[in-house]
Amino acid sequence: MQSHLADVWFRVTDLDVVSGSGCWVTTATGERYLDFTSGIAVTSTGHCHPKVVAAIQEQATKFIHAQVNVYRHPLLEQLGARLNDITPDSIDTFYFSNSGAEATEGGVKLARQVTGRPNLIVFSGSFHGRTAQTMAMTTSKTGYRAGHSPLPSGVFVTPFPYSHRMGVDDDTASRQCIEALQHLLLSQTAPSETAAIFIEPVLGEGGYVPAPPQFLQALRELCDEHSILLCIDEVQSGFGRTGTMFACEQANVRPDILLMAKGIASGFPISAIGASHELMAKWPIGRHGGTYGGNPLGCAAALATIDVLTEAGFMANVVAQGERLRNGLRQLAQKFPAISDVRGAGLMVASEFGDPERAKKVIAHCASKGKLLLMNAGTYGTSVRWMPPLIVNDAEIDQALTAFGNALAATE
Ligand code: PLP
Repeated sequence: MQSHLADVWFRVTDLDVVSGSGCWVTTATGERYLDFTSGIAVTSTGHCHPKVVAAIQEQATKFIHAQVNVYRHPLLEQLGARLNDITPDSIDTFYFSNSGAEATEGGVKLARQVTGRPNLIVFSGSFHGRTAQTMAMTTSKTGYRAGHSPLPSGVFVTPFPYSHRMGVDDDTASRQCIEALQHLLLSQTAPSETAAIFIEPVLGEGGYVPAPPQFLQALRELCDEHSILLCIDEVQSGFGRTGTMFACEQANVRPDILLMAKGIASGFPISAIGASHELMAKWPIGRHGGTYGGNPLGCAAALATIDVLTEAGFMANVVAQGERLRNGLRQLAQKFPAISDVRGAGLMVASEFGDPERAKKVIAHCASKGKLLLMNAGTYGTSVRWMPPLIVNDAEIDQALTAFGNALAATE
């Protein structure tokens, strides 16, 4: 049968799925798979969490689309207030859009508008999206940009403190990367021409690499010194993924602009830009917009998701399961030296392989024999990333570790 779908979608598996529940997806032939991809770190509360489903169903009977320029629906302010509660203190005002890339684009527009400066700095290994502007800010793989040039200019790239790959400790990596950034500000884009520095506090597509807290703190100081906006992209790391609501909290670093998407609504496409009221007030009315931003179904899904994420014991489970997972992976690393590093916080965990082919084989074996879905990441494709739904339990972590161990043994 001829497919009428574009081939451009890269595929992790060939599975045809018909439903999902919690950490599990069911295929058209009735097989169940443990989904440790969470649809690329999206289904924070698991597939089809009953509270999220109920909120969407209820909202669908009232309004599916209530266009934000034409009138206001009540969930907009409710979601703004909820996000104000859970985001860092520096953030209290929100703009809604539909995807991570769109939030990043909006963040760029906001930063340029309020500073009057043209340039942006991003980090090597970054991923900020696939639109023209965000492709220009994405440096994790050439494949994301190939054939799409010319891309927008004004983007400068500086090294990310990836200490494992640099072969140094976190302090040294942080110091060297701050020095490289200072050099960039002297040699290529002067502070007076630099609107914002965009950073993922944990590189996502770049390999699940947490930035050392001391680096994020030094970056904050450098931004303050030069009045450059610090724009923290928590599209992948936000909403409890790392065991705190946002990863930047762990370094006690406050963003000027916070980008949110993915886990915000358990899979409903909605994203947000957060900033201070003072900063947002400098964005003139009408300078940014979009038809669907603040969609009522998305707001309902986000509110229900945040309710679940803030339930007693929820975050403790993320921390405990993350520890269980990393401990299990470290034990496997002792038995299988192919794993050179296990890192991460909460349930944003990577097991690093020296050899991308081995990583690929292990992932394929996990899917075919272990009924476990995993993905790789990183410029070299050497990081296997672990991003299960945040509601994962002991038995599911153990089952995944067993499948992974079997795959390691079978691919030696
Ligand atoms: N920023 C980060 C850190 C991401 O991980 C992603 C997607 O993976 C994006 C931005 C882009 O988000 P979207 O795919 O929703 O456009």
